[in-house]
Amino acid sequence: MSELKLCQGPKCHQHQTKDRLKGPKDNKTYQTRRRSSMYYGTGNFCSMWCFNDWAEIFIDRAIDHFGRLTEPKHLTEENAWTKDYDYNGWNNTPDNYYFVNGITKEQRPITREQYNDESYTLNS
Ligand SMILES: [Zn+2]
Repeated sequence: MSELKLCQGPKCHQHQTKDRLKGPKDNKTYQTRRRSSMYYGTGNFCSMWCFNDWAEIFIDRAIDHFGRLTEPKHLTEENAWTKDYDYNGWNNTPDNYYFVNGITKEQRPITREQYNDESYTLNS
């Protein structure tokens, strides 16, 4: 049995839907949603509604904490690498992984492991 995660939306329990109404028959309360998996905010929120509730309260603090952008970034050959892949037409599984440079359009082959490694990049 997989562990249930709580939605991190600060007002999740205030959105009165039937599935949030839980508890013994005479003492039901609206509660924060619990799910084995959630699809919003990298798996932390049950809905965009809850994600937006969180952002409204915390996003300025989060940006200030991790570093607010103070000047525009520039796309150059040195930081224009993104990962991509071609589909194998037969069984629809990704095949042929590569880096592609958004400026020069150069492609460089990589392995599936390199593709899945979030920290593996050619960008400087
Ligand atoms: Zn929620």
